[in-house]
Amino acid sequence: MAPMAEIPDLIDAFGAGLYVLFGIIQLDLWLRRRERRGHLWLAGAISGALLVDVTGILLRRSGTTTDPGLQIANHLGVVVASICLFELFAVLAPRHPVRGVRLLYASALLPLPSALVTGTTDLLALSLLSCAVLILLAGSRAVLEVLSGDREARLLAAGFVVLALCLLLDLLMEFGLLPTVPGAPIAGFFILFVAAAQTLAERSERTLRELEQLRRELEARVDERTAQLRTANLQLAEAARTDSLTGLANRRALLERFEAERRRSARSEAPIALVMADIDHFKRVNDEHGHAAGDRVLQEIAATLRGALRAQDTVARWGGEEFLLLLPETDLEGALVAAEAARTRIEETPVRVGEQLLPVTLSFGAAQHAPQATVDETLAAADRALYRAKKSGRNCVRPA
Ligand code: GH3
Ligand code: MG
Ligand code: MG
Repeated sequence: MAPMAEIPDLIDAFGAGLYVLFGIIQLDLWLRRRERRGHLWLAGAISGALLVDVTGILLRRSGTTTDPGLQIANHLGVVVASICLFELFAVLAPRHPVRGVRLLYASALLPLPSALVTGTTDLLALSLLSCAVLILLAGSRAVLEVLSGDREARLLAAGFVVLALCLLLDLLMEFGLLPTVPGAPIAGFFILFVAAAQTLAERSERTLRELEQLRRELEARVDERTAQLRTANLQLAEAARTDSLTGLANRRALLERFEAERRRSARSEAPIALVMADIDHFKRVNDEHGHAAGDRVLQEIAATLRGALRAQDTVARWGGEEFLLLLPETDLEGALVAAEAARTRIEETPVRVGEQLLPVTLSFGAAQHAPQATVDETLAAADRALYRAKKSGRNCVRPA
């Protein structure tokens, strides 16, 4: 068993080893992420404690011949630990800033060089007092932080309370009011450092969680916006291919579908037919009932045409009161039958304009698209057939 006098040294040596390891870990954490200054301050505080610890051993060993250099070095450890602890608590408990800290730093630091120069250690008491105030302020910040609702600071505050108790015990032992048990300050500081390290880790964890949450929220918003944009694009594309008055396909949409059907029929050799239709004497409707009534007639005719044809047929508004029907897999004969059915349906369906029921008729010209013909040629053929239908007295179907 070690003699009683060596026990404090053993404890201090053990503490020094722990400090070195702990300090290196904190320094490493800071070097990995420089913005986490808390780890640097903790490493600084640990270094200060290490200096106090090592010089403590040496001072005890030197016995009565106390070396002022060692004493000042020991004191420097206290100052460094106090300042770094204060800075660390400023990072961890930021809601309660303290004014005039620079003055305390100066009064803690300045007596050191003067003691070194003059060789007298009297002014060190002032420095020690400043350090005590710094540690007290740092601890009270943590306590205030907990009181104002920061649950994460409770470990830090607890660490501080433990340190205060350890120092108080040490003081009582110093004055002989308690039996001397070595290692109280070192245990107090060590517990505080562990508490601070744990608080720092919790803060990092929380920051990471918050960043992750933010990333998820941003991703969700980007997804939502992308979906909105996709819908808007689809709506826009649809609008660009739709006639706004009748809701039918417009000229552009019909030509696209015609092209697609041409490609399909080139492979399948299925026939395609086009039927051009034009409202008879439409100008009269406008003249006698007004332009709004004309529009209404156009909408009704569009709906009737659409209803009279198969789902795979395209009904387009080709121009003012002209419609074009694209009938896939339909030859001329089939187109004549379909056009006749549409013509009859329209003839039998007068359009209601106000109080009146207006009889409306259409003339139709049908053409089959020959595989080698161009789109324009087939369109012209259907148009010529329509012209013939008009010439034949309107309200009829004519082939190309
Ligand atoms: P036809 O039997 O020879 O076709 O006689 P029509 O009166 O129908 O002939 P025309 O092509 O000369 O007249 C078409 C009229 O359609 C002229 C124009 O004012 C009208 N029109 C064209 N587009 C619209 C529209 O969007 N709304 C309305 N209300 N009228 C339109
Ligand atoms: Mg007309
Ligand atoms: Mg016309």
